[in-house]
Amino acid sequence: MSGIDIITFGCRLNTYESEVMRRQAESAGLNNAVLVNTCAVTGEAVRQAKQAIRRARRENPGARLIVTGCAAQTDAASFAAMDEVDAVLGNEEKLKAAGYRNLPDFGVSAEEKIRVNDIMSVRNTAPQMVDAIEGRARAFVQVQNGCDHRCTFCIIPFGRGNSRSVPMGAVVDQVSRLVGNGYREVVITGVDATSYGADLPGRPTLGKLASTILANVPDLERLRLSSIDSIEADDHLLELIADEQRFMPYLHLSLQHGDDMILKRMKRRHSRTDAVEFCRTVRELRPGIALGADLIAGFPTETEEMFDNALSLIDACSLSFLHVFPFSPRDGTPAARMPQHDRGLIKTRAAKLRQQGERAYRQHLQSMAQSDQKILIERPGLGRTENFTPVRIDSGDPGTIIPATISGHDGGKLTAVARSGHSTKQAAA
Ligand code: SF4
Repeated sequence: MSGIDIITFGCRLNTYESEVMRRQAESAGLNNAVLVNTCAVTGEAVRQAKQAIRRARRENPGARLIVTGCAAQTDAASFAAMDEVDAVLGNEEKLKAAGYRNLPDFGVSAEEKIRVNDIMSVRNTAPQMVDAIEGRARAFVQVQNGCDHRCTFCIIPFGRGNSRSVPMGAVVDQVSRLVGNGYREVVITGVDATSYGADLPGRPTLGKLASTILANVPDLERLRLSSIDSIEADDHLLELIADEQRFMPYLHLSLQHGDDMILKRMKRRHSRTDAVEFCRTVRELRPGIALGADLIAGFPTETEEMFDNALSLIDACSLSFLHVFPFSPRDGTPAARMPQHDRGLIKTRAAKLRQQGERAYRQHLQSMAQSDQKILIERPGLGRTENFTPVRIDSGDPGTIIPATISGHDGGKLTAVARSGHSTKQAAA
């Protein structure tokens, strides 16, 4: 093996940062190395990362193996204790060339492998420019990092620190660079994106940032948001949803549950009524918008009745895309100290949520039949509509946008036929 292989787990922010890590590691002269960018959201994510580390070591006996990401930040010692691992970098260190220089020699003690600082001491997010997101038809741009909230089930603030925003000018420059390199769609991402700007002069909101990007990058055809906290959505954002066609009609909401008592015990900032009301409002503002959400099954103290309120939220909010998380106690969080449900029960409830979600998703697919759509081709034969629905279509190069008519669906994806005279303008290299 030569060069640098990167294995990325978790969120879009990690995907973006893996690109930054590649640039920084290359500029530090690192070679013959495997970087594992981990996630700590669930115990399962950590287990998979360790499995990947063992496999990477077997397949690359002579390579340097470096572990980074939120699991490394929150539990460095357990990765440093692995013989397969040469170095453990924190979420801040992974973004700097210095993190990849003078790596510890083989066979040093676990302590000597660790380069992880106190992430809570980090006050700003240095803009990191990337030219491309490898193998992706759409580009992710980090606009915010960290989180000031402390939801009782969540380990993320301990992996990423407090909220900090990338200055608007730097974000606009990054988006311009990516559009200049041929990207037609950009996704702005963060840990708690709706808290964007609270730490910047003039406290610009996420909506202000989005409209500033669209105003200053006229060639950007599609601006998309990664997940947001609906209770923090600002008026500027709602205006964009209503009036701006380049702002994509898809929102992924961090709802987590549909029962007010559980939302309180999660320390979420919204109620069931707030969530239902928000979804009704954005549907009125932008007919055809699609909504997705994260929901947790089996949170401690959740009764059958409370769980039913999570199930019924799917229809109450007309959700079409569901990410279901079986509750996973994370050491160091308040929810891990609450009385836990049996794993079997958690799995059963997660399965029921997924089943309901799949039914809602098929209805969504059905509702799009015979409609005209613009499809961003992700790879040959596959693309996504503006409201983020996957489509099978047998024309168009990756990165191009194809006008098409939806001919049906196969239960998992839409099927579509390109409308005549469509453009195949070449996309990003
Ligand atoms: S808002 Fe809550 S769930 Fe989201 S990252 Fe912050 S603490 Fe975690």
